[in-house]
Amino acid sequence: MAIDSQLSSPLGPPACEKDAKALQFIEDMTKSVDEVQRRVLEEILSQNADTEYLGKFQLDGATDRDTFKSKVPVVTYEDLQPQIQRIANGDRSPILSAHPISEFLTSSGTSAGERKLMPTIHEEMDRRQKLYSLLMPVMNLYVPGLDKGKGLYFLFVKAETKTPGGLVARPVLTSYYNSEQFKTRPYDPYNVYTSPNEAILCADSFQSMYAQMLCGLLMREEVLRVGAVFASGLLRAIRFLQLHWKQLAHDISTGTLNPKITDPSLRDCISSKIVKPNPELSEFITEECSAENWEGIITRIWPNTKYLDVIVTGAMAQYIPTLEYYGGGLPLACTMYASSECYFGLNLKPMSKPSEVSYTCMPNMCYYEFLPHDPNAPALSRDSPPRLVDLADVEAGKQYELIITTYAGLCRYRVGDILQVTDFYNSAPQFRFIRRKNVLLSIDSDKTDEAELQKAIENASVLLREFNTSVVEYTSYADAKSIPGHYVIYWELLVKDPENSPSHEVLNQCCLAMEESMNSVYRQGRVADNSIGPLEIRVVKNGTFEELMDYAISRGASINQYKAPRCVNFTPIMELLDSRVVSVHFSPAAPHWNPERRRC
Ligand code: AMP
Repeated sequence: MAIDSQLSSPLGPPACEKDAKALQFIEDMTKSVDEVQRRVLEEILSQNADTEYLGKFQLDGATDRDTFKSKVPVVTYEDLQPQIQRIANGDRSPILSAHPISEFLTSSGTSAGERKLMPTIHEEMDRRQKLYSLLMPVMNLYVPGLDKGKGLYFLFVKAETKTPGGLVARPVLTSYYNSEQFKTRPYDPYNVYTSPNEAILCADSFQSMYAQMLCGLLMREEVLRVGAVFASGLLRAIRFLQLHWKQLAHDISTGTLNPKITDPSLRDCISSKIVKPNPELSEFITEECSAENWEGIITRIWPNTKYLDVIVTGAMAQYIPTLEYYGGGLPLACTMYASSECYFGLNLKPMSKPSEVSYTCMPNMCYYEFLPHDPNAPALSRDSPPRLVDLADVEAGKQYELIITTYAGLCRYRVGDILQVTDFYNSAPQFRFIRRKNVLLSIDSDKTDEAELQKAIENASVLLREFNTSVVEYTSYADAKSIPGHYVIYWELLVKDPENSPSHEVLNQCCLAMEESMNSVYRQGRVADNSIGPLEIRVVKNGTFEELMDYAISRGASINQYKAPRCVNFTPIMELLDSRVVSVHFSPAAPHWNPERRRC
């Protein structure tokens, strides 16, 4: 179809008229960042003027930035927990938002060991949908012909719970995949998936993955892009193929469906519409999958794949080498930056190298503020509030902590992400994701901080007491080379009574005790999602941590201020630690996890 030249965009020539409109929207938004932000704050403050929360700060109807900033405090999740608890318990009065809270989105961030509950309202779904609708028009600028085939995306829903007041609590993507916007989305040739909705919406993770992989194999020639939300999810799919290709090949050869697929709608949809006997394809899969070497397996099985669509920025960067191995060097596209609190923005150059990815925050999503982040500056004080910078005023090269005010009622809320301004598109800043504050270890969506790790070590150490043994030093490492990845904890022990030192079995139990102490997202990853492998303790020789200190000092660390790092990933340090390992232990069982357990 010829595109009206008037619709062409500075971002590039749009692939179709619909794309032209989306690109024009990006132009409009990025050219008037400050004006859009002013309007967004005005809308949020007028909409929520009569809420209990905003009422406390006596804005008296003001909707301007100065009044807002001078009267409303910057808060964390913990500050809002009393209000969130009341909503969860069934209080339907306008506490945070004038619009009814439609559900809670369970963040992978935790508070007191449980997932954070983010209130949301119906209209937010449209805002998220709008951001999704911008992704393909941008991708089409870089990868032509994506309407000629399909996307093999491994997408999953997770367990839902209900709060005592009856509101659903579930992850944001589970909410999105279950929405009418997703389930009854109009046909779009640029967004055709190999996975039927029945497979994505099947809550049993084995059946869902099996069906999605089967469909992906059956349609292998049509697949033009392969993806998952995060890198860890795509690697899990590869691991699944390694474990189950024989059964998959059997189904393809015979045109039957694995009896372990018991979900009636899934069985019906796959066996009636999709599986037909195809011995040739089955043979091909058997040949490829039984080979020792899986390097480039994605390009071998799905030869028309143009890129891998997975987020590999932030905590997921640890998976880049493994994805490059299985992907045979296919480009890795990071398309968007979002959270349970709010979706933020997109990558306008999705084919850029992971280390160069920047996200452009769309000013219509929420009202943004930025707290200048200087790791050496003193902590936030309530007496002298720091000066927060507006979206239009951030400076290239500087780092900031993201603070948002949302339509759903979060006001000046600290998301916990540290971002660095790399450049501007029109007047919209573009941000590199630097890191999440206070996260030491992460494999999938889990985030373990220093305090949680310390607590887990303390709880596990209790088992060592009867052996007169204590943990004198420890550090940790997120091992992303195994699939699924797992936590590795290095322990230096003080064994006071070598005749009665803790046995291999006791140290295995210590691994489990640590896992039992981890937050619910970690335990869910271990138990329900199988996205995290058993925790490992590596006991190192006495004196190892002193050597670590010597090494740090030789590289310029101050002897007075030296503290053992609680997490390591620098190769020489890893090599030093690994060369001193005297024994290795793994968690012998899965920790407890119960989807229903929730205090609010
Ligand atoms: P959740 O709390 O589970 O909604 O996860 C949201 C968090 O995931 C964000 O606040 C970021 O820390 C992280 N995240 C989301 N998108 C990206 C991205 N594109 N790159 C790096 N980290 C991301």
